[in-house]
Amino acid sequence: MTHLGSAKDLGEKEAKEKLVTGLKKIFLQNDIEKKFNVKLLLEITAGSGEIMGDNFEEIACFIKKTEMGISKNKIGVCFDTAHAFASGYDLRNKKSVKKTFDDFDKIIGIERLKLVHCNDSMSDFNSHIDRHENIGYGKIGLKGFEAIVNEPRLKNLDFILETPNNKVGENLRVLKKIRKNI
Ligand SMILES: [Zn+2]
Repeated sequence: MTHLGSAKDLGEKEAKEKLVTGLKKIFLQNDIEKKFNVKLLLEITAGSGEIMGDNFEEIACFIKKTEMGISKNKIGVCFDTAHAFASGYDLRNKKSVKKTFDDFDKIIGIERLKLVHCNDSMSDFNSHIDRHENIGYGKIGLKGFEAIVNEPRLKNLDFILETPNNKVGENLRVLKKIRKNI
């Protein structure tokens, strides 16, 4: 799995081309697709500064371009809740969670979604600032996570906590409490 890096001074067009070349190299140079049954996951970012990969359209485009010339379905997506929220995908209630994953499905395809990084966000909606918070203490909030853990399209995915201050156990208890048997 990888973040997509920053365009910095390269300029958007050149940076995107370099990124796709780099992603292709991973598969072609190492013959990965023939040797191993693995996928590469691209993680959605919060999009601070010139950081790439903060929206579904861009990620879909990177997947499409990278897969040209290599096998299909080698690339998946890791959905980090804090990054997506800071990048402008609302997750604060059932309706907005449904809309976010409807959009994901329309633009990227829900079958590409392979992993969830489960973090509340210290920073505001659409702020493009990447700050993780413990579940229920941030701007996504408990109502948002209740919708996330009960979203049917996420039911069979692994969730990984990346919350601050070593509170994984506590966060896990909160998530289990709000998860219904879906
Ligand atoms: Zn993450």
